[in-house]
Formats: sequence, C-alpha cells, structure tokens
Amino acid sequence: MAIIMDGKALAKKVRLQVAEQAARLPRQPGLAVILVGDDPASAVYVRNKEKDCQQCGIRSLEYRLPAETSQQALLALIARLNEDPAADGILVQLPLPRHIDSRAVLEAIRPDKDADAFHPENAGRMLTGEPAVWPCTPAGVMELLHEYGISPAGKRCVVLGRSNIVGKPMALLLLRENGTVTVCHSATPDLEEATRRADILVSAVGRPGLIGAAQVKEGAVVIDVAINRTPEGRLCGDVDFDAVAPKASYITPVPGGVGPMTRAILMKNVLALAKMHQAEAK
Ligand code: NAP
Repeated sequence: MAIIMDGKALAKKVRLQVAEQAARLPRQPGLAVILVGDDPASAVYVRNKEKDCQQCGIRSLEYRLPAETSQQALLALIARLNEDPAADGILVQLPLPRHIDSRAVLEAIRPDKDADAFHPENAGRMLTGEPAVWPCTPAGVMELLHEYGISPAGKRCVVLGRSNIVGKPMALLLLRENGTVTVCHSATPDLEEATRRADILVSAVGRPGLIGAAQVKEGAVVIDVAINRTPEGRLCGDVDFDAVAPKASYITPVPGGVGPMTRAILMKNVLALAKMHQAEAK
C-alpha cells in the first residue's frame, strides 16, 4: 500500500518556515493581489491567498476591481505597483474578463515581481538559467518529492499535460534534477504505454479516472495535480486513488496533496522576491 504524501501537513510546515524568515527581514514582504470582476471561484482563491499572507507575516495588498475595468486601467495599476516597494510580488487572479488580454497583463508585471513566474522572461530563464522563482504548482510537487526523500535522478518521469503553468515547468524541474522526462498530451498516441513505464508519474490533465491501476507500474510514485469535480460535487484528481494506491509506492490525495502545496509555494516565492529586493537595496 502506498504512502500517502501529505501536502496539507507539508504546506503548514512551509508556511511556518516562511513566517519565521519573513519576521527576520528588515522590511515586511508584500504581495499585491488583483482581482477583476466577481467570479466566485476566483474570489475564494483570493481570500485564501489573503489568509495565507496573514499566517506568513506577508502584507497583503488587495485590489478588487469591477468586471468592467478597462485593460488600460489595469495596466496603469500594474505600472504603479511595479514601482511600489511595498509590493514584492504582484499577482493577477486569472481568468480575467474577456475584454482584457491576459497575456498583455501578465507581461506587464515586472519579472522580478512575478510571484507566479508566468512572465515570458521568467519562462525563458527556466529554460536557460535560473529564474528567481518557479511556478507554484510544479515547485510544490518538487517540494513534496524532496520531503519524502524521492529523487528524480535516474528515474523515468512521465508528465501528463503540457500547459505553461503546470506541465512544461514540471518537466523542466524534473529534468533539472536529472530525471529522464517524457511529456504526454492530448495527441500522445498510446498514453498507457508511457504511463506504465513511469517511475514517477505526474498527472495534470483534468480528467477524472484517466489513471487507473492498469496505467501504473508497480511501485511508482504517483502525483495527481488535477482538480476536478464529480457530478455529485466531490473533488477528485485524474487518478483513481482507491485503485492505484495499493500498487503505488507513494501517492498524493486530492484534495490534500498538491493543492495546498501550490498555495504554500506562492508564499515562499513572495519571500524569495522580498529577499532579493532587500539585498539589492543594501
Ligand atoms: P490545461 O491548460 O487544460 O492543460 C491540460 C493538459 O492536459 C493539456 O496539455 C492537454 O493536452 C492535456 N490532455 C488533455 N487530454 C489529455 C489526454 N487524454 N491524455 C493526455 N493529456 C491530455 O490545464 P492546466 O492548467 O495545466 O491544469 C491541469 C489540471 O491541474 C487541471 O485539472 C487543473 O484544475 C489542475 N491544477 C491544479 C493545481 C493545483 O494547485 N493542484 C494548479 C493548477 C492546475 P493538449 O496540450 O494537447 O491540449
């Protein structure tokens, strides 16, 4: 039976570490969070970020803008925050209303304040060097692997999904730690052939039941990034947990696995940006 990787407990530990380090900085770190419109799910995410900031001793600067806010006004706010030393990190909650070009908005955030690491300059640094921070979800997966003493080195790692925020940076992080990485997507001809070879399988697709026992190698580490909702309203991932857990060596639950880590890494990212800004200011 697999060991269940407890993302909730590790996230708490990370938040405590961030709080300890934030308290020792000469200036309190700050995160500006911008929410445009009244999407209920986004409002919950933003509230959670505020709560996390509070627990970590990070100042949360909140900007709640009406849905009809113009792109120009949003860009003007970002330009102001780019110059505001109180904001070490800037985060724009996605999705944005349709009339706003998300890409233009994300590109307007100064790369050294890009708490989510979505700016193309940071994406480039992921390929060619070291960005100051990595996208929260894949970085959270790496932190979980480290916590449980699992190294990708010499392992066959298979990542399902190739989005810019999860799949691609996940593959780069595993590669950086000497994993041999395969990335699969909707045009992969024989998914099962790939997943069955994985020593470490990371699924970030968004399809309940995609991974059952037959798709997993005996003793594999199975990381379920996906967050789906069943017709009954229950949260689940891509992996059939009950079927796969007896076969895997380690497995993440949904909820309580990767999700809490994503939130905790955001706090860690803001701390890292604040440290960088304060070192530069010396
Ligand atoms: P996304 O942008 O929709 O990407 C999904 C990926 O899955 C795409 O690359 C797609 O391939 C691939 N895919 C679709 N059907 C497939 C199939 N049958 N076999 C193999 N690959 C397939 O989603 P995302 O933003 O990366 O998020 C992925 C999942 O993770 C979602 O469930 C999301 O809710 C969850 N998520 C969780 C967290 C967290 O904190 N735990 C954070 C972010 C996202 P193509 O590129 O070919 O279309």
